[in-house]
Amino acid sequence: MYNYTKIERIDQKKINAKERLENYNEIYEAYTDETAQGQSSRCIQCGIPYCASSGCPLNNNIPHWLKYNAEGNDEMAFKISNETSPFPEILGKICPHNRLCEGACTLNDGHGAVTIGSIEVHINEKGFEKGMKPAFPKELSDKKVAIIGSGPAGISCANFLLRAGIKPVVFEKSDEPGGLLLYGIPEFKLEKKDVFRRIKLLLEAGMELKLNTEVGKDISFDELRQEYDAVFMGFGATEGRVLNHEGYNSDHVYMAVPFLTNIQKKRLGKDFDPKYNIRGKSVLVIGGGDTAMDCVRTSIRGGATQVKCVYRREEQHMPGSDKEVKAAKEEGIEFIFTTAPKHFIADEKGEIKGMKFVKTKVIRDQLSNRGKVVEVEDSEFIMQADVIILALGFNHQQISFLNEAGIKTNEYGGIDVDENYQTSLSGVYAGGDMVRGADLAVNAALDGREAAMKIASQVFQKLENQTV
Ligand SMILES: Cc1cc2nc3c(=O)[nH]c(=O)nc-3n(C[C@H](O)[C@H](O)[C@H](O)COP(=O)(O)OP(=O)(O)OC[C@H]3O[C@@H](n4cnc5c(N)ncnc54)[C@H](O)[C@@H]3O)c2cc1C
Ligand code: SF4
Repeated sequence: MYNYTKIERIDQKKINAKERLENYNEIYEAYTDETAQGQSSRCIQCGIPYCASSGCPLNNNIPHWLKYNAEGNDEMAFKISNETSPFPEILGKICPHNRLCEGACTLNDGHGAVTIGSIEVHINEKGFEKGMKPAFPKELSDKKVAIIGSGPAGISCANFLLRAGIKPVVFEKSDEPGGLLLYGIPEFKLEKKDVFRRIKLLLEAGMELKLNTEVGKDISFDELRQEYDAVFMGFGATEGRVLNHEGYNSDHVYMAVPFLTNIQKKRLGKDFDPKYNIRGKSVLVIGGGDTAMDCVRTSIRGGATQVKCVYRREEQHMPGSDKEVKAAKEEGIEFIFTTAPKHFIADEKGEIKGMKFVKTKVIRDQLSNRGKVVEVEDSEFIMQADVIILALGFNHQQISFLNEAGIKTNEYGGIDVDENYQTSLSGVYAGGDMVRGADLAVNAALDGREAAMKIASQVFQKLENQTV
């Protein structure tokens, strides 16, 4: 350890942009054993490891698995990495590390943070390669918990319930499990075999999965409450914000998530809506966050002739991660900043032909660095496009049966939970985006884990009370 003075930070190598565009594969090359061990050995084993305590939402035992990896103890590194995280090899790929664990690393002060995410992926891939599996009890109790939604929140809850010996029964309205891990985040960030591998491990450990089953339609919420010892809800928040400007209903104006989902379905050889085929089309994506980056990069891989991204503020104020914006630029995406949409332009058949925009400037004062976006007078202009994709953020969906059941929501429409992750209805818990609003997979995983522990103590407490 302490090798940071001898060994420089080495990021995973990126495949060159031209080659990347030939397929949807992940764009980073895996570490070799030697590189991973060398990078792990840079860690200085801080007394108070900020990477774990304030950087990683899951408080993963990062210095421990770095030490075991540096020493070549693959088994212990794998075991500890799976202790606190329900899918470390996935989060190692998709977490915005620079804002989380690596951002908090003591070496991130000019020496270069330890490459925690890349090492986390390596440790787990190595473990799987050697046939290691996360540990689950051999037998489960007769207690069972209904989980609604198989996104990161639901899957994490299932993982930790299984650890506690409780059977999770997951209800998923989609045809496949994984939530946005499968049908949102594109393959070039996360290959789907990783998601299916974790699901398989949970099924082997005793999780039951009911696909194509929408709670509130195919099975009632009341039924779940009656039949199960507790209910955990992880519905997500994928209701895309619309742009209610003139012409919004024209053909080929798409919302980000349905677009990404349909492309992914096509990639998996499933039924998909052919209207989302963007081959040979010019595409405009409106928005500056990571979802917008996923849309532009998916469009260019899907054969669009030209892809532009329009954002209303300056480049340095884009909400998208720097590394995603950089990757998009390398892949040939054109960015147009300080530009806001005015209205859609369609032909007489209702097909989109372009959009009218206006240039903007951002007025800042001492109170707000983000400032207020105002239009620049007489600066309107038109951009032609065959397809316009809106990536403007997400709202909570209104779920009527939750309102009917009296479950309280907060002022933003998210589900209200107490410090035990319990909603206003006893025995009903919630987490992930449906509580927080659109957020990160690691935070959904945290909610699922913490809720599972609260559920387990509540379920077994009830049992104890009954048997005394
Ligand atoms: C395009 C995109 C890219 C992203 N990229 C990243 C990234 O790189 N890194 C990162 O950390 N985060 C990323 N995120 C955010 C991250 O994916 C979410 O924060 C996370 O998936 C939320 O998890 P969840 O379990 O709360 O919800 P979801 O993942 O949305 O899962 C909810 C699940 O519930 C199911 N469901 C809903 N209603 C019902 C019902 N009535 N009955 C049964 N099932 C139901 C849905 O079908 C879905 O499977 C991205 C998000 C998007 C949209
Ligand atoms: S889960 Fe995310 S934040 Fe935590 S160690 Fe892994 S990559 Fe870092």
